[in-house]
Amino acid sequence: MKIGILGGGQLARMLAVAGYPLGLEFVVLEPSADAGAVPLTEHLHGVYDNRTLLAALADKADVVTYEFENVPAQVAELLSSRTQVYPAANALAVAQDRLMEKKFFHKLAIPTAPFAAVNNLDDLQQVMTTFAYPAILKSRKMGYDGKGQVVLTSPDQLTAAWESMQDAASIVEGFVPFQREISIIAARRVQGEIAFYPVSENQHRGGILRVSRCCHADPLQTKAQDYVTRLLEALNYVGVIALELFEVDGQLLANEFAPRVHNSGHWTIEGAETSQFENHLRAILDLPLGSTKPRGYAGMVNFIGGVPQSEQVLAIENAHLHLYAKQLRSGRKVAHATVRCDEKIAFENAMHLLENLANQTDDS
Ligand code: AMP
Repeated sequence: MKIGILGGGQLARMLAVAGYPLGLEFVVLEPSADAGAVPLTEHLHGVYDNRTLLAALADKADVVTYEFENVPAQVAELLSSRTQVYPAANALAVAQDRLMEKKFFHKLAIPTAPFAAVNNLDDLQQVMTTFAYPAILKSRKMGYDGKGQVVLTSPDQLTAAWESMQDAASIVEGFVPFQREISIIAARRVQGEIAFYPVSENQHRGGILRVSRCCHADPLQTKAQDYVTRLLEALNYVGVIALELFEVDGQLLANEFAPRVHNSGHWTIEGAETSQFENHLRAILDLPLGSTKPRGYAGMVNFIGGVPQSEQVLAIENAHLHLYAKQLRSGRKVAHATVRCDEKIAFENAMHLLENLANQTDDS
């Protein structure tokens, strides 16, 4: 079986690594010559809407999936007319537009921060007469890792904030005074079976994920599972999905979902019986899903903009290093380390040492 992937970055790389033991082969459509998955896969080198390459991808692959959601939804539709595409284009269309996504959450009775559409400076000024400060202005499309976002702190900042959006259709969101950020990762296979991972507790800085920890018996696990199940079923979704949530006073507010494997689930590589990458492949191939049970205490630390010496990371007991074979660039996720451990104290020690190393090499 050959799996086609739109995008050839680190997520595609980790899908390929998980798929080889299952006898799978991979072909990626990727604009960059030196992306992380390229050395491991057949590479169709070009942009995502190149029709010749899309036709080649559809011909070569038994199933097509993607590793990031900003692929034009028409591309997924075009591919669907020629081959199997999972998750289907409807999930992509919702996930890549923050306004549609928020409205979709509401339709499913999943609570969110208050939000309003904003298409010009007048709209923004009008909306901010009804929202409290601080609030967040976010572009509807192409936003990730905090890009296309401005925190609004006072009315005299609105003109500059709007100019920085370069007229992109946007939304304003109320600023959530959350106690925790968590995410739930789930997999749904073609015939409908769903598996949930324990929720991850996530720390972001500057809008970028830094650290995730697997939560054991989290009091909000059931609620998170309920919300993600609504999404999976409403979208008739196939594959791995990640739903990002804010915890405020014991309640959960949905921030966004990713229709793909997710950075907050990287701890599952060594930390769960079956990784999110393997379960995504099982789900899209309609194979039985693997156990999502954690193997002890598990977590992940991202390396952003720079990576410590491998010796330094691997000298930390219970740490595993995952390099993405990417060019170093400021603010770019270039590697991560996971920790898996039977003892909580040893786990926290290793996480602490890794966070220190990450802070030394982090240039963002
Ligand atoms: P996003 O690109 O929407 O995932 O946002 C990146 C990060 O910015 C989130 O993980 C939060 O840490 C922060 N953030 C986004 N939206 C809000 C909000 N409405 N209130 C408070 N923090 C937010």
